[in-house]
Amino acid sequence: MSAHEPVIGVEIHVQLSTRTKMFCGCELSFGDPPNTHTCPVCLAHPGVLPVVNEEAVRRALLIGLALGCEIAPRSIFHRKNYFYPDLPKAYQISQFDIPICGRGEFRALREDGSELVVGITRAHLEEDAAKLTHAGGRRAGAAESVVDFNRGGTPLVEIVTEPDLRSPSDVALFLRQLRQTLLFLGVSDCSMEEGSMRADANVSIRPVGSQELGTKTELKNMNSFRFLERGIEAEIARQEEIVAAGGRVSQETVHYEPDTGHITSLRSKEESHDYRYFPEPDLVPIAPDPAWVEELRAGLPELPLPLRMRMVGEMGLSAEDAEVLTERPELVAYFMEAAALADPKACANWIRGELRAQLREVGVEPWQSKVTPAHVAALVGLLDAGTVTVPAAKEVLAEVIASGGDPADVVESKGLGAMDEGDLAAIVAEIIAANPDQAQQLRDGKDKVIGFFVGQAMKGTGGRADPQSVQRLVREAVRGD
Ligand SMILES: [Zn+2]
Repeated sequence: MSAHEPVIGVEIHVQLSTRTKMFCGCELSFGDPPNTHTCPVCLAHPGVLPVVNEEAVRRALLIGLALGCEIAPRSIFHRKNYFYPDLPKAYQISQFDIPICGRGEFRALREDGSELVVGITRAHLEEDAAKLTHAGGRRAGAAESVVDFNRGGTPLVEIVTEPDLRSPSDVALFLRQLRQTLLFLGVSDCSMEEGSMRADANVSIRPVGSQELGTKTELKNMNSFRFLERGIEAEIARQEEIVAAGGRVSQETVHYEPDTGHITSLRSKEESHDYRYFPEPDLVPIAPDPAWVEELRAGLPELPLPLRMRMVGEMGLSAEDAEVLTERPELVAYFMEAAALADPKACANWIRGELRAQLREVGVEPWQSKVTPAHVAALVGLLDAGTVTVPAAKEVLAEVIASGGDPADVVESKGLGAMDEGDLAAIVAEIIAANPDQAQQLRDGKDKVIGFFVGQAMKGTGGRADPQSVQRLVREAVRGD
């Protein structure tokens, strides 16, 4: 066993899905032809002046309020200087020592019900750099690189955590639940694949029981939570090996290669003085009206964690149900509408189970489908009343997905109503008579053969037989022979 514990903090960059860029009127675009959303401001022509996007400030405040951050009465922008082709000004407008959102705290729920509390150091506003594409391999071996300035100037909020995380799985859990919160706030589409949410991890190890922080390395820009989790695992293992061999971890930026599982060093990490931060002279401080901040606080939506606790506590759902259903705000709204009309637990089972499974085949989410929450509630009601069996209900659902028809009408028009006991007993008797060998096996105590009879009864009734009733009727009939 390792006598070291990992100490991990994360930095998350979230692209805000505003209509326009952070400091100019260019529209945000994803997937448009390169360099079609640019202007003298985001291309850094001489003499131009940036203007702050008020909507970006509003969204940064929403994030800060949801993370319980102290909102700075007055924050300022800084210039972060570095020279790279993705940055036409040769500095990025960011925030440094007076960010818009200060200390806060984020609570996440683990699967076992325990709480993960992560301190938030700060959340600040900045602009994104342009997008570089390296042709013919990775950066070092690229034959040529091209730059697309469409992304340059996109509003970003960078969220920085305290080094409060102790395992790669907790990092993944934290990021998943933070992402949910951001989706509920409607501030970003938080797509890891498209790069609108990116996470870096600062990783160090220290002897168990020590309060001091070891030398950290920075694991850059992973585009999925799973890769980030694996990358942190690999980096912890690498650091443990170095220390076990009597070496010292050096401060550097590292890259994880998902294909090989290897960690490679990119460069020695910059210190903040390398960036020669100084106050941006072209922008006035952000001093949000306290009344506005309070209005935003009062208007925050119900966030995933309290919502999940309410679903488990008041609605009788499992922690897992609640986690799945709060994945997306649209899904929560859909579930809540159904649960207001029928048993919440049954609605949860049908929505996260059969409905999503059937819709996955056609690549549609529940709220985009022809199945309304009222349809789900109606189906649950039909099952509850014994009007349909579970297999028939699945068939009804498939028909509602295709046609958008009312479940009760579908049951009627397709003849999917549950069979009455007398008709079912007659069919069971026929099946037993036609399969004397299997009937004998059952008599001989080979209980598994009951599944054969249930299958035959389902086939013979088009799924309208209740499996439990079939089992009972077969046993009664065979014993009664
Ligand atoms: Zn522009």
